[in-house]
Amino acid sequence: MSINRDTSAHLFEIAKKYFPGGVNSPVRAFRSVEGTPLFIKKGRGSHIWDEDDNEFIDFCGSWGPLILGHANPNVIQAITETIQSGTSFGAPTRLENELASLIVDNHPILEKIRFVSSGTEAVMSALRLARGATGRNKIIKFEGCYHGHVDSLLVKAGSGLVTFGISTSAGIPESFAAETIVLPLNEPFALEAVLQQFENQIAAIIIEPIPANNGLLVQNKSFLQYLRTKCDEYGCLLIFDEVISGFRAGFGGAAEKYEVRPDIITFGKIVGGGLPVGAYGGSAEIMSYISPDGPVYQAGTLSGNPVAMSAGIATLTQLLQPGFYESLEGKTIQFCSEISAHIQSKQYPVHLVQIDSIFWIAFSTDRIFQAEQIDPDSMKYFKQLHRHLLDNGVYFGPSGYEVGFVSAAHTSEDLEKAAQIISEGLDFIFNV
Ligand SMILES: *Cc1c(COP(=O)(O)O)cnc(C)c1O
Repeated sequence: MSINRDTSAHLFEIAKKYFPGGVNSPVRAFRSVEGTPLFIKKGRGSHIWDEDDNEFIDFCGSWGPLILGHANPNVIQAITETIQSGTSFGAPTRLENELASLIVDNHPILEKIRFVSSGTEAVMSALRLARGATGRNKIIKFEGCYHGHVDSLLVKAGSGLVTFGISTSAGIPESFAAETIVLPLNEPFALEAVLQQFENQIAAIIIEPIPANNGLLVQNKSFLQYLRTKCDEYGCLLIFDEVISGFRAGFGGAAEKYEVRPDIITFGKIVGGGLPVGAYGGSAEIMSYISPDGPVYQAGTLSGNPVAMSAGIATLTQLLQPGFYESLEGKTIQFCSEISAHIQSKQYPVHLVQIDSIFWIAFSTDRIFQAEQIDPDSMKYFKQLHRHLLDNGVYFGPSGYEVGFVSAAHTSEDLEKAAQIISEGLDFIFNV
């Protein structure tokens, strides 16, 4: 069977003339899997079509935002209506109030928020707020948590108990990276040691409460609670980066799910319903540090853009329907358990990690809490699986470190079919 991907291949050749690596965001370049990226022409519900008219059941969902699937009719209608009246004014609109009230009035912690245009921008602003509010400089982050391409957070740990940031990207001054302390997830003693060592210097601890950018490293509730306790003890702020988990792990995200009260929460992805929106928020007190009320400056020409706000409103309104999350989680559990049953019957060294509507195929039999427990060599299996899935009409993000997302648009027929194709893919990998 040979699948025609000529148009995508041709478009990629052109793109390489214009963009570094032919793309506008690196992982899209398919470097960690085989072949050239597919250029997508159209999406509807749970399905996407590439430029060669190959059809796929999509589990990437634009990397998380599309919890309702592609081209959700209410979202399209809202965007289309709003855009008739103009696209941007640089002045307040009533749509900002509407989206803010949907979020704040239905969230257990938030009292005030600020809209920005991406998850990265939300995190960057949250760090500035934490530093401005505490008068301290250092930030603790965890290995394997991704927080966007913020300078001081593009840092990973080396070996040892405490590793001062060594940047993972060129172009970041050592002095920036030095303000970031990187720790392994799930190690309370390492954290306590650092908090003691740098007493009165740590502005904030930032974590993806459901780490989903380096595999799916689901943490114990007790670890997240421990972070809260230690932040109180040492006078630093707790930032939950809920750019993925916000409105995904239930409407109140991980903060509600784990009953932990962070001081600042960052959002992106789902909040914009597929358009570029980010947000950060917290108590009225902490948000009073933000300009023009307070001394921490943060601004944006397109912040609160009406078209993007309308997509967010149309999306969040649907998420608030009774039973929305129960139904989505139920489907995801069913889907994962079909694949898991196959894995068990064949005794493959693989397991599925699932939380809410997020899943990840771990090529290991052990539960994985930390980034360094993922064997880089196991990615060769993902590469083979990815190729098999593309050849058989299932689209996953092109990296074994990325999670999959189930949307409300996935039908039980989609999920049964995909579970079967994934199971066949595993047979193909392990029975050669
Ligand atoms: C995607 C992501 C970001 C960055 O958001 P962008 O909109 O890509 O800038 C930050 N934090 C987490 C947890 C994310 O998943």
